[in-house]
Amino acid sequence: MTDIRLYLFQTGHIRQQEVDIKMGASQDEFITPIPWFLITHPKGNIIIDGGTPVEAAIDPHKHWGTVAERYFPLMKEEDGCLNRFVEAGFDPKSVRYVLHSHLHIDHTGALGHFPNATYIVQRREYEFAYAPDWFSRGAYVKADFDRPGLKWHFLEGQDHDGFDLYGDGTVKFYFTPGHSPGHQSFLLNLPNSGAYVLTIDAAYTMDHWNEKCLPGSMTSAIEVARSVQKLRMIADVNDATIITGHDPDMWPTLKKFPEYYG
Ligand SMILES: [Zn+2]
Repeated sequence: MTDIRLYLFQTGHIRQQEVDIKMGASQDEFITPIPWFLITHPKGNIIIDGGTPVEAAIDPHKHWGTVAERYFPLMKEEDGCLNRFVEAGFDPKSVRYVLHSHLHIDHTGALGHFPNATYIVQRREYEFAYAPDWFSRGAYVKADFDRPGLKWHFLEGQDHDGFDLYGDGTVKFYFTPGHSPGHQSFLLNLPNSGAYVLTIDAAYTMDHWNEKCLPGSMTSAIEVARSVQKLRMIADVNDATIITGHDPDMWPTLKKFPEYYG
């Protein structure tokens, strides 16, 4: 019997300017972790996001084009999601679902690498990824998600708020648009560690969470602000611990594989 556990991994870091993460901040270099998550579960393992695709580690300029001049992956090939997953002793066939918060270039590292997986994303995100507005174009690489033969499952915005993947409360989905049009966040309930909110990019850092700044990248300021409000209420009523999306202060304080939250 597989225990329910949350494992934290990362595909290295991304180097950018502080202003790319925090609106109105400096042009100083700012390095952020690129997390991904594994939830082991008796009904089948679950991956969330998968970090930066390994192709971007092998040749950043080829895979990301001119975006790599602004955002640079500090990542080795062995940091790829599948490589780390196998190295950790897990079987790629054991992954039943891959959940996508959104389809930005640093959240698509699991796509296509898990043969038995159904890939779950918001329909609005999937559709936007194929035809982003000009200011979001650099955030998507079509080769990441335009893969024939993938089994997708689409969620329909807030109609699916609280969707409970295995029916036991372990993983629930919440629509949190604003950073991207179809962004979603996750509420986890772990047997011993309690509730966790994975904000992903609905709040890059605790500054966003605490309503002290807006993100440097978004599609709607109003949606960004309301999605944080929504998650703050969900965290409050569930007494949840918060894990923000790309937080250079918080990430080092969290347990990483082989440690876990059980
Ligand atoms: Zn993003």
